[in-house]
Amino acid sequence: MEELFSSNKYCTRCILRYSVENVNQVFESEQFSPVTGCGLCLDVLSDENIEKTVLSIVEQLKKYEAPLYTLAIQLPQCILIRAYSLSVFIKQKKLIKNSSINVIPIKESLKHKIIQQVDELSLKKHCSKSTVLVDLIYSHETNAADLSKIPQKKSKKKYFCKTKNSQPEVTNQVIEDFLSNLKESEISKYISFPPLSVTSLCNFSVNTCQESIFIAGRYNKYSRELSQTPWIIEGERKTKSSVQDLICGKMQEAVQASDNKFISSGREDVDVLMLGKGRPFAVELINPKVSGLERNLVQKLQDAINKSTDLISVRDLQVMHRGAIQKLKEGEEEKKKLYRARIWCPLPVSTEKIDSVCILKNIVLMQKTPIRVLHRRPLITRERTIYETNITRIDDFHYDLFITTQAGTYVKEFVHGDFGRTNPSLRTLLNADVDILELDVQNVEFDWPPSCDDVNCVND
Ligand SMILES: [Zn+2]
Repeated sequence: MEELFSSNKYCTRCILRYSVENVNQVFESEQFSPVTGCGLCLDVLSDENIEKTVLSIVEQLKKYEAPLYTLAIQLPQCILIRAYSLSVFIKQKKLIKNSSINVIPIKESLKHKIIQQVDELSLKKHCSKSTVLVDLIYSHETNAADLSKIPQKKSKKKYFCKTKNSQPEVTNQVIEDFLSNLKESEISKYISFPPLSVTSLCNFSVNTCQESIFIAGRYNKYSRELSQTPWIIEGERKTKSSVQDLICGKMQEAVQASDNKFISSGREDVDVLMLGKGRPFAVELINPKVSGLERNLVQKLQDAINKSTDLISVRDLQVMHRGAIQKLKEGEEEKKKLYRARIWCPLPVSTEKIDSVCILKNIVLMQKTPIRVLHRRPLITRERTIYETNITRIDDFHYDLFITTQAGTYVKEFVHGDFGRTNPSLRTLLNADVDILELDVQNVEFDWPPSCDDVNCVND
């Protein structure tokens, strides 16, 4: 091994990786002398690099409440090639007596040291099951040059995909396959043999992220001027606020998330109220800094949202696992909905006519995509069922229509017929001119999430 020590191409830590038995010994060496530009680890094992990296990770972890974190390290791929090159060199020159070389990998050594120091400085603990993920990514300019010598064979399409800057992107598997098929006599044709030292430093980036928190619940909407999600046309907001804004703003603040995603079981139009027990929804709070929400905090959050506005209210707020949110989307197609529509007729409608419609059950409609949504939905004809109908008279010209419908029924179009595009419609059934004045969703028949009135509501 003397030859390697004196070559000045590799740092002592890298050389020790080839001779000591455990990872602690890699860093215990008394004879450590820093070599800049180590041709094996590209100096990632140097004290200077480790210190910079550790400080950066510790700084980022301060943002998180969680006492645990998980570290993942990505090294430049040329490190694989360089390690292979040296192992062949050692074998050929018989630098190590044992026939098999037991090397402690760079990644393992680096991870060991970084975790040790981060734990000490941050007072947190590394744990592979933590929800806080630290991604440490190293890059080095020699990487592209080293990889460029690997021939791109016929299997090009299978293995190499061009990235944005048209640099070939090679997977670790491709490199490993290439190296395992490489004849020792040809090694110097493709890779520097033994690996040469480098002249520049490694760069690194640290990205930290915590797994999302999901909060589910049901919302009511009491305004005919509020859209469900921010209503933006050509970059301009058409409504001041939205159901999403009113609910998610407070949630995002409470868990210090970087962003949020609003997921709901269907939607109502801007001018439609959402009454009854409300519409099921869930919010994904992305990269939260708190590590969880206790039941009483969720209750406080619900109270805070409800106190902050008269336009909406929320109920049954609860923390859920990602997997449980799937149910929300599954239920979307099956749920029934109960509507109340205030309708207007220019001429009085006879009681007989009204009764003849009220006794109808399971009216099957053929609905062409309504004109008002054609600009954003494809033109198709859909079959939808109105399960039950009831009409009450307010006066000779005003009536309330109560209907239970299949999910996805266009109710406004069922009332006025949309120029014959929905058939039958209330207009054809009553054989009278009718128009719709206002519409409320009175109930969404979908029992999700479980009601928090039940004492055993423990999803958090
Ligand atoms: Zn090294």
